[in-house]
Amino acid sequence: MFIPFFLILWCTFDAFLWKNGWYSEVPPLEVEATDYEGSIIIIGAGPAGISAAYTLEYLGFRNYQILEAKAEFGGRVQEMDDFIDIPLDLGAEWIHTHPRILQDMILFNDTVTEETIVYRPTRYRQVLGDRVKVPLPLRWLFYREWKFKSTTWKSYLNDYMYTYVQDRVQLNTPVTTIDYTGAKIQVTTASGDTVEADKVILAVPPTMLKNGRIEFEPDLPTAKTTEIDKVVPYEGFKIWFEFDEQFYKDYTILDSYRIYFDGVFEKPTGRNVLTMLSAGGAETRDLIKLSDEELFEFHMEELDTIFRGKASEHYIQHRVQNWSKEPFIEESWEAGYTPPFDQGTILQPVDEKIYFAGAYLNEPHFASVHGAILSGRQVAQKVLLDAA
Ligand SMILES: Cc1cc2nc3c(=O)[nH]c(=O)nc-3n(C[C@H](O)[C@H](O)[C@H](O)COP(=O)(O)OP(=O)(O)OC[C@H]3O[C@@H](n4cnc5c(N)ncnc54)[C@H](O)[C@@H]3O)c2cc1C
Repeated sequence: MFIPFFLILWCTFDAFLWKNGWYSEVPPLEVEATDYEGSIIIIGAGPAGISAAYTLEYLGFRNYQILEAKAEFGGRVQEMDDFIDIPLDLGAEWIHTHPRILQDMILFNDTVTEETIVYRPTRYRQVLGDRVKVPLPLRWLFYREWKFKSTTWKSYLNDYMYTYVQDRVQLNTPVTTIDYTGAKIQVTTASGDTVEADKVILAVPPTMLKNGRIEFEPDLPTAKTTEIDKVVPYEGFKIWFEFDEQFYKDYTILDSYRIYFDGVFEKPTGRNVLTMLSAGGAETRDLIKLSDEELFEFHMEELDTIFRGKASEHYIQHRVQNWSKEPFIEESWEAGYTPPFDQGTILQPVDEKIYFAGAYLNEPHFASVHGAILSGRQVAQKVLLDAA
């Protein structure tokens, strides 16, 4: 009796401290400097890859480069700056922990000036099946996350990390094959060029590995591919609707996987944007197959049903971002409060040559931007520690 009571008390106290940002969630660096003379290739310039490079840079290691498939850095962290008068996040949007982590993740002498807002919608409703409305569960009373006020995750990544490493990033360079048979790893790109390195950090989404988008010579060990196959990437997309009137609430939940939310909640704009976020679940799996136009039409019809024709009446413009169809990504985020696979097995380097990083490999900040950043930082250090 005494122990459960004490445990509950401790958990409540810990949650209180966490919600108020009274302790750092970022472990201190284990490496202070390095004299490693080998070369490192980082594959993928999402938050994990950029953070790995940023950590190497901070530790004084310069013999690295990042190969990024797309024409833009950031991976699933992208912004849309031409929709309304403030930029909006195209992918990741919430800061799923106390925003002091934004400063705690910084290694160089920068002060994070981005303002954040507490995200705690109060006007919400749940629509079940044929428009039955029920009050939200009690947990909503305690719900609280954060967002950037007038900037985005992309600008944070750009201003505080990418700026230090961008000279070593090669965009438009999809990696197709990694041959690690010899002493040097041969990394071949879609244009047929081959680059050599002593170590590779693979910071691509797990879908790229599950779907065999990169070939390995020899094949990755079975123990590793078995765990990679157990990762469950959610399909997903976002749609933004601009209306000339705010007829909707802060938050409208359709089910655990599909929500409409005020896309500019507490943000400094007079414009009205409603965002649909659909990630995971059977309905999302069907919807992602539609064209952007069909997705728009389906959701306008749905909104008109929920809000009695007001969507069509007040419509100005929309934008669709289908992440499941996005080349080199093909997912939203990975499922599982507790990951359904063994992170340790995937994190184990192959022959001390190939290392894995990404939001899906961070514990306890699973499947989040800050989790990806912390994963990149951890893996960069591990490469240097193993090489010492
Ligand atoms: C719609 C949506 C909403 C989200 N909401 C949130 C949120 O609110 N808060 C939050 O914290 N997180 C959120 N996330 C999750 C978050 O964006 C990811 O967890 C994070 O971006 C993962 O970072 P990463 O570096 O591991 O992978 P990614 O961001 O996917 O970066 C991987 C990079 O690898 C590149 N790449 C892939 N294949 C190759 C190749 N063959 N060669 C070279 N480069 C390659 C890709 O182009 C990409 O740039 C959301 C994601 C989506 C899509």
